[in-house]
Amino acid sequence: MAFDLGMIKAVYAGMAERVNAARNAVGRPLTLTEKILYAHLYDGNATQSFERGKTYVDFAPDRVAMQDATAQMALLQFMQAGKPSVAVPSTVHCDHLIQARVGADQDLQDAYSENKEVYDFLASVSNKYGIGFWKPGAGIIHQVVLENYAFPGGMMIGTDSHTPNAGGLGMIAIGVGGADAVDVMAGMAWELKFPKVIGVKLTGKMNGWTSPKDVILKVAGILTVKGGTGAIVEYFGEGAESMSCTGKGTICNMGAEIGATTSVFSYDDSMRAYLRATDRDEVVQMADEVAAYLRADDEVYADPASFYDQLIEIDLSTLEPHVNGPFTPDAAWPISQFAAVVKEHGWPAKLEVGLIGSCTNSSYEDLTRAASIAEQAITKKLAAQAEFTITPGSEMVRYTTARDGLLDTFAQMGGVVLANACGPCIGQWARHTDDPTRKNSIITSFNRNFAKRNDGNPNTHAFVASPEIVTALAIAGDLTFNPLTDKLVNADGQEVMLDEPRGIELPTQGFAVEDAGYVAPAEDGSSVEVVVDPKSDRLQLLEGFKPWEGTDLKGMKLLIKAQGKCTTDHISMAGPWLKYRGHLDNISNNMLIGAINAFNGDANSVYNDMTRGYDTVPATARTYKAAGIGTVVVGDENYGEGSSREHAAMEPRFLGVRAVIVKSFARIHETNLKKQGMLALTFANKADYDLIEERDTIDILGLENFTPGQPLKVLLTHKDGSQDSFMVNHTYNEGQIEWFKAGSALNLIRLQSQR
Ligand code: SF4
Repeated sequence: MAFDLGMIKAVYAGMAERVNAARNAVGRPLTLTEKILYAHLYDGNATQSFERGKTYVDFAPDRVAMQDATAQMALLQFMQAGKPSVAVPSTVHCDHLIQARVGADQDLQDAYSENKEVYDFLASVSNKYGIGFWKPGAGIIHQVVLENYAFPGGMMIGTDSHTPNAGGLGMIAIGVGGADAVDVMAGMAWELKFPKVIGVKLTGKMNGWTSPKDVILKVAGILTVKGGTGAIVEYFGEGAESMSCTGKGTICNMGAEIGATTSVFSYDDSMRAYLRATDRDEVVQMADEVAAYLRADDEVYADPASFYDQLIEIDLSTLEPHVNGPFTPDAAWPISQFAAVVKEHGWPAKLEVGLIGSCTNSSYEDLTRAASIAEQAITKKLAAQAEFTITPGSEMVRYTTARDGLLDTFAQMGGVVLANACGPCIGQWARHTDDPTRKNSIITSFNRNFAKRNDGNPNTHAFVASPEIVTALAIAGDLTFNPLTDKLVNADGQEVMLDEPRGIELPTQGFAVEDAGYVAPAEDGSSVEVVVDPKSDRLQLLEGFKPWEGTDLKGMKLLIKAQGKCTTDHISMAGPWLKYRGHLDNISNNMLIGAINAFNGDANSVYNDMTRGYDTVPATARTYKAAGIGTVVVGDENYGEGSSREHAAMEPRFLGVRAVIVKSFARIHETNLKKQGMLALTFANKADYDLIEERDTIDILGLENFTPGQPLKVLLTHKDGSQDSFMVNHTYNEGQIEWFKAGSALNLIRLQSQR
């Protein structure tokens, strides 16, 4: 059994007491989101009310899931914590590194040889530390989590943005960076700003061509890509109850496209049915006992406007199928208007490829609905005009749909079944095209459609729709085709229409699989060796950073004074560098190469006082590091905004940066710097940024009395020997000061576990 029944039991055992304590503390009825969050406070029962959108709160998630790209650095870091095993049930999923080229079998084989060192590392480190390992080909992280681990009322984090997919099974599931996963696996608290709650009331019932995908495509149009920022979206109403559990998963999955922290549905019959179909009757029994806590209080549903920060209402009976795009998922077009919009914008009407599946839309229901359209291509003698691919979300889905003849139907329509992996959804797609400079259109049932996302080609116009609409449009080969109203001409020259899709929510013969691809970890991993090839350029074991030397930091050099926007992408660029995300030394060659030097306006060109000339930022940092000289990075406003990428904090630390002094920080990056044992400081007077000169030597004073709330002093010695000084603020609490002293948070955990 892959899932952890004991953990779920423990969560449900404490549910009533924790939710009741929260209701008392908050003093009003609670939304579902609040119930789950308050039931997962790190410090136990709630004793106070947290202000939504304001207060930072420590949580204790029940599980962690990691995909193979982000898991590498997370697990390398976890090894530093000196723990014998992870503190909460955790899993690794090999899904992102498989490239779609010709078809499932060959592609999988190629991935095994190309990524062997990464897979060997992930398998061995999982085995050692009690982490469930899902092999390449087992499936896509979010589909596998839904099938095996998600449970109503639970809370999990995952190192991937579409982790919210598990909200379809009533779980608060949040996408995070690797550093957060390390915290939770090491038993530390996980901090989140208590989110706002957006209510979406679904009335009526879907019919015809409309599917759950259209709900989220519509919501994306209403809220836009930023509208959900800092909020959890809670769906409710008769429309929610009439929808399948996997359909709910699709909606929650794409909540990432509106920037939402996550999305969630309350526990209902569709979840019961899905849990039973995936062999989890015990979870149903336990959830039924606490069912009242797995939905919002009645008063909330009776008067939602009084309890949600924002309320949206959608009538499913009148909701049209949508097509969203191109280049952004919030450009939402009802199908009845889409043809006109395509013409008006001059988007290529010829559809070149239709792609269905992915973690977003590869449920049994999705594939049966799409297959019911594909079948008509065969019976009505319609040759598909566009290429067509199918990406099953998991081996269980693939095996079951193969058994039930669905994959054969797709093949007869000319479809190619790809590996159970991310593939074209994340740009791992060797697309065959005769002319990459031609503007072209594709349509997918995936979630993201930013430029270059699928095939790396900026000329590709990617649209997003439900699997059944994608299939219909692939048959037509024409973006302006509306299957609800338009006819197609078949091989006999007759005009035919496609009938409405028909789906089966759960397989009547049950799900089946021969080898799901799960590898359970060793009971006692103490003698398991973690496999890392010392010659690898993709993986490198980490060495703990040195602890604080116990004195003020003196004689440091300015590495760069960055001007203007400096996001985590400027600090640690993605793209080709991602290959090295498990190798700190190699990936550090991208450190700050996107930041603009305030003294010359150039990127990746800074003064090197050792060589007396200009050099790249990483090379300059390496010269100082080799000479044992600490460095300082100076930055502007909101330094480190963007993602929670831990490399943006680890690289400077690795290359000898001791302090980052800025006008203001993006909070997550500030915390990441603290975790890596660096000084994250802000100018007490922002104008002091101007005092810093290119060839300054910098001292940071007051560290022997480093105390929460007490500013530190910076002394600048300029090239001509003159000096300036100013005060800098910090937000370190007692615990974080201990991280600094130990050299990093993980060093401290290791020291504590050795005691
Ligand atoms: Fe992310 Fe796409 Fe993979 Fe899903 S299928 S996990 S959205 S890359």
